[in-house]
Amino acid sequence: MDAAPDPDAESPPPRPPGAEPPWWPGARPADELADAAPAVVDWAVRYLEGVGERPVLSEVAPGWVRDQLPAHAPEEPEAWDAILSDLDRVVVPGTTHWQSPRWFGYFQANSSAPAVLAEAIIATLGTQGMLWQTGPACTEVETLIMDWLAELLGLPDRFRSDGPGGGVIQDSASSSTLVATLAARDRARAAGARLDDLVAYTSVDAHSSVEKGLRVAGLLADQLRSVPVDGARAMRPDALAEAVAADVAAGRTPFLVVATVGTTSTHGLDPLGPVGDVARAHGAWFHVDAAHAGAAALLPELRWIHDGLEAADSYVMDPHKWLFTAMECSALFVADAAPLADALSITPEYLRNAATGSGQVVDYRDWQVPLGRRFRALKLWAVIRRFGAEGLRAAVRGHIALAADLEARLAADARFVLPVPRPLNLVCFAHVAGDEASEALLGALNATGRVFCSHTRIDGRYLLRVSVGQTATGPADLDELWALVDRLAPPA
Ligand SMILES: *Cc1c(COP(=O)(O)O)cnc(C)c1O
Repeated sequence: MDAAPDPDAESPPPRPPGAEPPWWPGARPADELADAAPAVVDWAVRYLEGVGERPVLSEVAPGWVRDQLPAHAPEEPEAWDAILSDLDRVVVPGTTHWQSPRWFGYFQANSSAPAVLAEAIIATLGTQGMLWQTGPACTEVETLIMDWLAELLGLPDRFRSDGPGGGVIQDSASSSTLVATLAARDRARAAGARLDDLVAYTSVDAHSSVEKGLRVAGLLADQLRSVPVDGARAMRPDALAEAVAADVAAGRTPFLVVATVGTTSTHGLDPLGPVGDVARAHGAWFHVDAAHAGAAALLPELRWIHDGLEAADSYVMDPHKWLFTAMECSALFVADAAPLADALSITPEYLRNAATGSGQVVDYRDWQVPLGRRFRALKLWAVIRRFGAEGLRAAVRGHIALAADLEARLAADARFVLPVPRPLNLVCFAHVAGDEASEALLGALNATGRVFCSHTRIDGRYLLRVSVGQTATGPADLDELWALVDRLAPPA
């Protein structure tokens, strides 16, 4: 380990002879970009060209990464060469390669060249778009792109910006659901309900972010009801209605119902129409979480996954999962933005300005928890423009076809069972010999380093999950996965 810097040492280094201020490194970003960008772009190109040949799951031991790097910050400026060589030496081996074409785990966090390049532009502009005034383009491009996205996904008109609602980009679906929860909470309280009496409902298969959002909103675990699901892992509206009725009878206030389009475990699809009816009948906020699966609605033939969405107060899908936009980009749509501002807007003197005062502009700080915000819309804008709507549809349709093909191979093999339906691009399967065989198969697959798949447990049964949605995933990648499954799975 290096010695700690000596606090008495002479610093900063003296001004180079003849240099005018500002003379410190980084003070001329345009010059440095011109010098260094080609090497950085080369590095990115090499990384992406080779990422499919790397072990998908990082093989480093805990602590290895840190041990490779100096314990203290450098006193003298370092060259980009040194930084890039540490990427190859330390960061790449210490990376689990989400951008591998044989990434099949969890859901993807896919990316694309337009997203990568747009991230550099976003950082170049360095916009902090908390107010319209601090980023007119940041704000207005976002409003427009959210309208584009609503149209591409065939979302109900009430989520467009020409009414009282519209779309806003958050960092994550977790934040989007939290914002909806805070708005729902304060709407219910404004109507006279006590915080302690509020109750929220979601299915047993809902994402953990629903419960986390409630906790952050100041509710306790016993204020969330986990509604049972049917054999296809969809929320049972009859069970929801029963739970709501019991709470109402006990004097409690149902304030939030969260339905999922494409649950994280198995892509269960809650029936939005009947679930929304129950929410509406009791004046509860109806939030729909389509974080991953929402992208499938790009395809007209799959728009039915959103049947019943007209009744929703809010809806979230993540372009950073299956729409090539790279972390972080979560699209939250609301039918009415007023409850968001009621819950989240605080205006100290230093944020007052004429544009806000005129009432003619949107200040997206009022639609999110943090104050500051990046120009994330630029990334989604670049992706949609470079792919075109047809390109986006072709990619998503291609992923679903590959998943269907894998499903057919599994179904035709007596060693495997498919206990839940595959509506989209997620295939769940088990070995007929039971959990031990399934778990061993997953371990063996991932130990090859050639693929990464993950698992879930449904009614106690261990299932392998294969999510097909990486940007570069093609038929050869699915063939390789199938060859491994075929070779590594024991006989029935
Ligand atoms: C992934 C996922 C989330 C969480 O998404 P983040 O953007 O990582 O917060 C929420 N809900 C569902 C259904 C998901 O699949």
